[in-house]
Amino acid sequence: MSASLQSKRSPIGLYIDFPFCIARCAFCAFHVQGFRSRQAKRYLCALQNEIELVAVSGVLEDYLITSIYLGGGTPTQYEPEIISELIAFCRKRFIVSDDAEISLEAHPVTLDREKLLKFRKSGINRLSLGVQSFSDQHLKALGRNHTAFEAETAFYDARSAGFNNIAIDLIYGLPDQTALDWYSTLQHAIALSPEHLSIYALSIEEGTLFGRLEKEGRLCLPAEEEVLNFYETARSQFAEAGYLHYEISNFAKAGKQCLHNLLYWDRGESMAFGLAAHSYFNQTHRENTEDLKQYIEALEADRLPSTHINKIDKREEKIDRIIFGLRKIGGIPLDFFEGDAQMSLTRDRLAQDGLLKIEKERVALSPKGFSLADEVALAFL
Ligand code: SF4
Repeated sequence: MSASLQSKRSPIGLYIDFPFCIARCAFCAFHVQGFRSRQAKRYLCALQNEIELVAVSGVLEDYLITSIYLGGGTPTQYEPEIISELIAFCRKRFIVSDDAEISLEAHPVTLDREKLLKFRKSGINRLSLGVQSFSDQHLKALGRNHTAFEAETAFYDARSAGFNNIAIDLIYGLPDQTALDWYSTLQHAIALSPEHLSIYALSIEEGTLFGRLEKEGRLCLPAEEEVLNFYETARSQFAEAGYLHYEISNFAKAGKQCLHNLLYWDRGESMAFGLAAHSYFNQTHRENTEDLKQYIEALEADRLPSTHINKIDKREEKIDRIIFGLRKIGGIPLDFFEGDAQMSLTRDRLAQDGLLKIEKERVALSPKGFSLADEVALAFL
């Protein structure tokens, strides 16, 4: 299809979930489980069938897929040939843009140069490497099953396999983490010069190892103020290294922002496949079952595995656009609030409290608002 015909279609992102991991990290509350070949194979067939059912329904006929995000879980536990076939299947069943961003989440120990060469050859053009820390002591506490050296090796292997768009994820506010530990992890990450960096504050979730240790009083977490300082240190270190801060938790070199995630924050449409996947499409939220057995059995019987389908009205859509849009450092146009007295009042109150700034016809979080973004979102809800 010619580029001009492609440009007439509405953009949409595809998300594909792979819910298997090497072992559960101490902080992770996602719906993941150990990789067992038979089950992983059945899951893959179910996934393909879900894609096929959506394709046959024709709902994406007028759309152009501008990004595909292969996440999880750990998709790189699957062989590159399998991932490659899945991407080819999407290209066969939908109209995928010639220059679509195709991201793959990767765990360092599942990679080697040969595998990475094959992933690159399959059309994957963005690698998101789960590193979390460059301290072996913290990696061990997080239950990550890799060392800093292995993460670094995976990074260099990806570079030599032709990946020129690599993202690194880091977590801060870890048990026993000092300002110096965090600074050293940041310097390590910057020295590798990835195109993209994401930082997340550790959050302690029920049902995780850290959740249990915290209840037992065996987790020594940095104080809230210290955690805020960690965030500020990352912001200044990344700015100094030339990274653009474009979303609360995300930093990128020029032109290397994650297009798939930008689509979410702009409240664009996305179709998600896989266990517990959430889609937003045609003003409808659709959620898949979180139960692996149910997911597989539904698709083996040619039924879509959705458990919740909510049509949202114009006002809910507007609230979503405000809340998601404000996650971007550039914020949202002031006219998003036009004709809505209640929202405008909330906006002005948050601006008076110093959490929002209104400049040049745009509304954005202030630096004070970055760390209180959840409260800002709640105020609009
Ligand atoms: S690798 Fe990611 S998805 Fe898997 S257990 Fe760890 S944090 Fe969770």
